[in-house]
Amino acid sequence: RGKRAFIAGVADDNGYGWAIAKSLAAAGAEILVGTWVPALNIFESSLRRGKFDESRVLPDGSLMEITKVYPLDAVFDNPEDVPEEIKTNKRYAGSSNWTVQEAAECVKNDFGSIDILVHSLANGPEVVKPLLETSRKGYLAAISASSYSYVSLLKHFLPIINPGKLPRGSSISLTYIASERIIPGYGGGMSSAKAALESDTRVLAFEAGRRKGIRVNTISAGPLRSRAAKAIGFIDMMIDYSSANAPLEKELSADEVGNTAAFLASPLASAITGGVIYVDNGLNAMGVGV
Ligand code: NAD
Repeated sequence: RGKRAFIAGVADDNGYGWAIAKSLAAAGAEILVGTWVPALNIFESSLRRGKFDESRVLPDGSLMEITKVYPLDAVFDNPEDVPEEIKTNKRYAGSSNWTVQEAAECVKNDFGSIDILVHSLANGPEVVKPLLETSRKGYLAAISASSYSYVSLLKHFLPIINPGKLPRGSSISLTYIASERIIPGYGGGMSSAKAALESDTRVLAFEAGRRKGIRVNTISAGPLRSRAAKAIGFIDMMIDYSSANAPLEKELSADEVGNTAAFLASPLASAITGGVIYVDNGLNAMGVGV
C-alpha cells in the first residue's frame, strides 16, 4: 500500500504544510493533517465549501483528498498540561483530544500507523520584537511552540511510525536561515527556536535512527508569503531581497519545498538523515548582497 502521512500545521492553502501535503498526495500518500484548534472551524468549513478546490488540483488533474483533519495544539503534551483558561476558552471547548499525546492516540486508533510525520508549524508571540526586547515569557513561548512541539510530536508518534528494512518511516520539519545568520526582524526568540530545531534534528536523527531506522531531516526554506510570514511583517522585503541576491532569481514556490519533502520521505533519500536541506534558490550560499 501507499504511505500514510500526518502533517501538523495546515490551516489554509497558502503555507508550506499545504504544499507538502499536495506533493506527498501526488506521490501516492494518504494525507492526514493536524490543524491548530483556533483555526480548525474555518479550515474545515472552507474545505467543505470548496474554497480550496482550485489549490487541491494535483498534477494528474485529480483533487488532493485529506482523509482526516485532527485538531491539534502542539504546545500541550497531554490533558494535565492544559490550563483552565484554555479548557474553557470557547475556541477550544468545541473540540477534544487535541493535545499531542491524544492526537497520536486518535491517529493510532483510526489508522494503526503512519509512515511520514511532518512538522510545519511555528509561533512566536513576540516575533516582531528584537531579541534584546524579548521577554522571558515570549522567548520560552517561541521555543515551546516552534521547537519543543517537534520533540513532543516525534516522541508521541514514534511508536506508530512504521520502521522497515529500507527505512520506510521518516520525519521532516521546516526551519529558516535566521538560526545561523543574522536576519533582523525575525525576533522574539524565533531565531533561537530555529537553532534549537536544527540541533534537535541531529540528535533526534540519531535517537530515532538507532531505535527504529527512522530518518529525521529539516528543510531550511526560503521566504513564502504564508499567513504566519505575513504576521512577521517583512515578508515582501525578504522575497524581493531573495530575487535580487540569490543565485536563482526566480520567486520560490511552495511546491518546490513540497517536492523536496516528498523526495526526503521517499526511498530515494534512504541515506539522508540529520540534515538541514536548503530549498531557497541558493540564497544561503551568498556571502554578500549584489
Ligand atoms: P503557515 O501559517 O501556513 O503555518 C504555520 C501553522 O502553524 C499555521 O497553520 C498555524 O495554525 C500553526 N500553529 C501555530 N501554533 C500552533 C500550535 N501551537 N499547535 C499547532 N499548530 C500551530 O506558515 P508557514 O510559513 O508555511 O509555516 C510553516 C513552517 O515553515 C514553520 O515552521 C515556519 O517557521 C517555516 N518557514 C516558513 C518560511 C516562510 O517564509 N513562510 C520560511 C522558512 C521556514
